Amino acid sequence: MESDNLLGSRFSPQSGNNRDTASVQIFDPNTGSAQPIQQNSARRASKFWCSLCCKPFKDRNGLQNHIENAFGHRNSCKLCLITFYSSSGLKRHLSNSSKHVWCKTCNRRFSSQAARDKHWEKTSRHRHCMIPNCEFDGIDNYELSVHLKTIHFQCGGCGELFLSLSKSRAHKTATFGCEFCGVHSLNAKNRKQHMLTHAPTNIACWACDGTYRTASGMILHLESGFCPCLIDTMELNKLLASWFGVSFIDPDYLFDLYDGKDLKKAHGENPRPFFCCECKERFLLFSTFVQHVECGPCEQSLKNLALDELKELFRNEFVKDEDGGFQLL
Ligand SMILES: [Zn+2]
Ligand SMILES: [Zn+2]
Ligand SMILES: [Zn+2]
Ligand SMILES: [Zn+2]
Ligand SMILES: [Zn+2]
Ligand SMILES: [Zn+2]
Ligand SMILES: [Zn+2]
Ligand SMILES: [Zn+2]
Repeated sequence: MESDNLLGSRFSPQSGNNRDTASVQIFDPNTGSAQPIQQNSARRASKFWCSLCCKPFKDRNGLQNHIENAFGHRNSCKLCLITFYSSSGLKRHLSNSSKHVWCKTCNRRFSSQAARDKHWEKTSRHRHCMIPNCEFDGIDNYELSVHLKTIHFQCGGCGELFLSLSKSRAHKTATFGCEFCGVHSLNAKNRKQHMLTHAPTNIACWACDGTYRTASGMILHLESGFCPCLIDTMELNKLLASWFGVSFIDPDYLFDLYDGKDLKKAHGENPRPFFCCECKERFLLFSTFVQHVECGPCEQSLKNLALDELKELFRNEFVKDEDGGFQLL
């Protein structure tokens, strides 16, 4: 992944995008200023060409390569890819060019590029993109973060930048990144669990007005006694035993659950009556079992639990709508 990191070895002018060089200009190496070019066929053929020897290139990389390797191109600006006749020409460019020492948004000139960049990092007036050659300037961190994500393919999980959508997708796959926020996970199961945090809270409590992101969260709310309906876990388990039978309840526990017996007394310290018939895992609470099904480590499906029908049964059993309220029967 390292080599794809814009902030690492590729965080250099040649890897920036080419939008800034899209307007064709020629630089007078003696004055360091830009002039619109005299269009001729050779120049029209390319947007990228050497300001010293006037040779055209296919793309930015070609010009970059030429400047780095051709004889007598020592006095080059690696960001703007302009070569000057003399070191003083380059120096003048570095201390005058808007690319290096100006903040356009504040209309302010700085003593050096370092000072200007520091301003961009620190100022709260605007948020300029710090990727070389990128001219984006946002009004706040939000705008900048959207820019980084969409234009520089930044991973929301680790902040790494990528050169292309396909590279950022490969990173997302390799890190089990979240579709929404990019957060990395250890494996597919953990990612599924993380994705639940983005689920809308549209699971309504079977008894009160509370809403939950997941069915397991709602059931835990019932089991833990936080619901104003004040249903007892033992009563709930009785209902579950009569509804599910041996489908999702260990036969060893079924009758004790149905009779409302203290499971610890009959089955020891760690009773696990709920049972996933797909993977044979066992659970103490119905909510933990439902969470297991939601996270999907096995093939068990929430559909098999027929929670909508169970809800009806639950309401008939425990909730009586009267004057918009409810009461235990
Ligand atoms: Zn040249
Ligand atoms: Zn420059
Ligand atoms: Zn500024
Ligand atoms: Zn940018
Ligand atoms: Zn990442
Ligand atoms: Zn996420
Ligand atoms: Zn409730
Ligand atoms: Zn299972």
